[in-house]
Amino acid sequence: MTEKEKSRRNEKGDNIIEQDTISAVSTALGQGAVGIVRLSGPQALAVAEKLFRTPGGKTLQNFPPRRLTYGHIEDTDGTAVDEVLAVYMAAPRSYTGEAVVEFQCHGGTEALRKILALTYGAGARPAEPGEFTKRAFLNGRIELTQAEAVLASIAARSEAALKMAARQQKGELAACIRKWRQKLLDLIVHMEACIDYPEDDIEAVTYRQAGRVVAEVKQGLEELLSRARSGRLVQEGLPIAIVGRPNVGKSSLLNALLREERAIVSPIAGTTRDTIREQLLLAGVPLLLADTAGIRTTGDKVEQLGVERSLAALEQAQLVFCVLDIARELSAEDREVLAASAAKDRFIILNKADLPHVLKADEIKARCPAVAVLPFSATTGAGMEALEQALAAYVFGQEGRLSEGVYIQNGRQEALVRRACSSLREAGAAIAASLPYDCIEVDLREAAAALGAVSGQAVQAEVIDEIFARFCVGK
Ligand code: GDP
Repeated sequence: MTEKEKSRRNEKGDNIIEQDTISAVSTALGQGAVGIVRLSGPQALAVAEKLFRTPGGKTLQNFPPRRLTYGHIEDTDGTAVDEVLAVYMAAPRSYTGEAVVEFQCHGGTEALRKILALTYGAGARPAEPGEFTKRAFLNGRIELTQAEAVLASIAARSEAALKMAARQQKGELAACIRKWRQKLLDLIVHMEACIDYPEDDIEAVTYRQAGRVVAEVKQGLEELLSRARSGRLVQEGLPIAIVGRPNVGKSSLLNALLREERAIVSPIAGTTRDTIREQLLLAGVPLLLADTAGIRTTGDKVEQLGVERSLAALEQAQLVFCVLDIARELSAEDREVLAASAAKDRFIILNKADLPHVLKADEIKARCPAVAVLPFSATTGAGMEALEQALAAYVFGQEGRLSEGVYIQNGRQEALVRRACSSLREAGAAIAASLPYDCIEVDLREAAAALGAVSGQAVQAEVIDEIFARFCVGK
């Protein structure tokens, strides 16, 4: 590694900041009024200069940074390709922390493709998915949780998700995690001092004091975890499988939820042979619904395939809508379905409540464990409100809606915070047993490392790559 490269290492140590200049179309593909081509890297300005001409023949260097400059993109032979506005942002005051040039072009796909090709010809290389944001992270402009929030806001499926992502972009979660991590690091340093200089009698770190810090941090993290599910569900969506024997009204339920005819509804049992997947927003929560083919023993090969897919959908779901026909006694097939979904969080939906009731909600509730048992009519829509309320309560708890505060947003963050908590539990036990300081320290270090990985202060390169690979090109 050259000295120059070494000096480009940032505080994360193992990540050498890229030297290439990258370019990509940063707006959505397809025709639009305006399309943006973005360049980032040490050569951004030099690349831009090769393509861009102002009417007066000035170069971008002659204009102050962060100001829009009118001009044309020219082909290598000097013919005008597009009329654009260019803006130059000098390092480090840009999104990536590097020199950035953006061209606001006319949004036609061909023009954008052409301009992009010209940037490649002038020395840039195509950006990988999420590479701009990755550079922002590697350059210390943002923390990992903020980068994830950028991703979340692009993918936001509801207003609540967007709001949550916006708060996280400001770094609220990162700040909160950093605070807890710092408390642990301080404690570690203090204990180290005790180990290294026992003669100095730094007995200030008594077990009691250490126990207090550990308990405080653990409590803070547990509070975060208690709300993690809502955060994750709002961001990532709630996967739901609709199961039930044929003809109980699964497709009708899906249609009622979607308020449109999507699944084929028919009175012949076993018509929904494949799993139909739909997304919709209910009570502010994006639902990822899978209407399954039904779960029953069948000789029909095609239907059997559907049944297998249904079981897979059931497996993947976090919540199951188990549909029964309220107007009929439970059949053997109904029991099969109830047994297959028993281990899952489920709502038992007693459909066809517009017909005379044979099943009683109370009896079902007493016999079958379920989060909720809800009479419903896909035909009349009766019970929809209760279903929405039950969903909101399931996702957000008693309050029934997203409360203010800091939220863990995804499975990665949640797993790390859980790991930190479990290390702190060990540390707490070690403290209670008055084990030697260095034993306690091992657990404290593990907890601090897990928290460091949340905000990206101590995270492996592969994890970083995996996170940014989920972005789209140009972000
Ligand atoms: P699936 O096989 O479980 O998907 O059931 P479908 O949605 O195809 O519905 C089966 C039959 O039940 C159709 O004839 C529907 O019109 C009827 N059905 C569905 N929901 C209701 C309901 O709430 N009330 C009544 N009366 N009929 C319903």
